[in-house]
Amino acid sequence: MSEEARRIARATLPEGLRPETLAVRTALAPSQHGENSEALFLTSAYVQPDAETSAQRFANSEDFTYSRTSNPTVRSLEARLAAMEGTEAAIATSTGMSAILLLGMGVLKAGDHVICSRSVFGSTINLFAKEFAKFGVETTFVSQTDLADWRAAIKPTTKLFFAETPTNPLTEVCDIRALADLAHDAGAVLAVDNTYSTPALQRPTEMGADIVMHSATKYMDGQGRVMAGALCGSSKWIRDVFGPILRTVGMTLAPFNAWVVLKGLETLSLRMKAQSEQALAVALWLQAQPEIDQVYYPSLASHPQHDLAMRQQSGQGGAVLSFDLRADTPEAARAAAFHVIDSTRVLSIATNLGDTKSIITHPATTSHGRLTEVQRQAAGIGQGLIRLSVGLEHVDDITDDLLRGLSTLTTR
Ligand SMILES: *Cc1c(COP(=O)(O)O)cnc(C)c1O
Repeated sequence: MSEEARRIARATLPEGLRPETLAVRTALAPSQHGENSEALFLTSAYVQPDAETSAQRFANSEDFTYSRTSNPTVRSLEARLAAMEGTEAAIATSTGMSAILLLGMGVLKAGDHVICSRSVFGSTINLFAKEFAKFGVETTFVSQTDLADWRAAIKPTTKLFFAETPTNPLTEVCDIRALADLAHDAGAVLAVDNTYSTPALQRPTEMGADIVMHSATKYMDGQGRVMAGALCGSSKWIRDVFGPILRTVGMTLAPFNAWVVLKGLETLSLRMKAQSEQALAVALWLQAQPEIDQVYYPSLASHPQHDLAMRQQSGQGGAVLSFDLRADTPEAARAAAFHVIDSTRVLSIATNLGDTKSIITHPATTSHGRLTEVQRQAAGIGQGLIRLSVGLEHVDDITDDLLRGLSTLTTR
């Protein structure tokens, strides 16, 4: 074997590999050292062999010149993500929010109109309603689940439909296929925030969505360490539209964060399955507790979009569920919710989700704290609502931890 051939670690991967395999194996080829775990390239610039090569590489955005524009670790993450979403390409960003910023900068211009579900992530609403509005982009917020509401909002200037499913904290599910058809009939594109299901459960482009957006901060990292985001879609969108904007604007993902998420993806499908099973067990347990009024979780037969959710999400509900405590007044409901949250000794009181550590949250005073009471009521976020992101602790320790507060409620 020649010295050159010895350096080539392996032939390229065969066609037709399954998603679990792609999640572990897709990456750039290893370096000449043949590392089995993908390397972390912490470098801002790349040395060029000579001026002529340098000129060529600067002319071709796919070559490595400077890490705002491209980095091998980030590129490996992008390749793996695209393989898992089943899209031609993916582009990584510094956070989930910067992925939506990049989406808007690529799809919209002054005078354009957006239709967005009113139940999406709070900062997403602010980005469309406040920040994009400054640049002459108008957004209409509509019902998460009523298709007629989306249809009625269409204008000649509508360029983007933005959906998120399931939503936080009430796990409402929208019909991706139906929204894609509606968007395309209107000459618009459909972007889906797939943070809550990840490609391990749901692949929106297979249901007609044009662009998939992620906060990789959640399940993809999966252990609550780093911030990251991404857009996935056709080469036309990712390489021709979003790539040049990101290279100019600089919402670039740091290589270290990319490396952490790249490793997280290797266990994503196992974690999604295990955390979904645990969440269902917790949801069923909660349903049987007398202090609880309603449990919101897509895998429960009582969920209003149960059948649709099971079809879209590979039969799994994900790790996030929420529940309402019984109480006569908003004040009593809030006191009961705080008591349950403060009685836990295992769960983390925090606002992240998708972590291996279970997290308990009071949406009305955190993620939805800036809404007025009227807006909160309209969104169905009562003072007695508690959100749970179910992790990988033993499921009995999670329910025991909830029981500490539930069994000592004075409103019982
Ligand atoms: C967290 C989150 C975002 C924002 O992502 P960051 O990484 O925090 O910027 C967007 N959408 C959803 C559904 C999220 O949960």
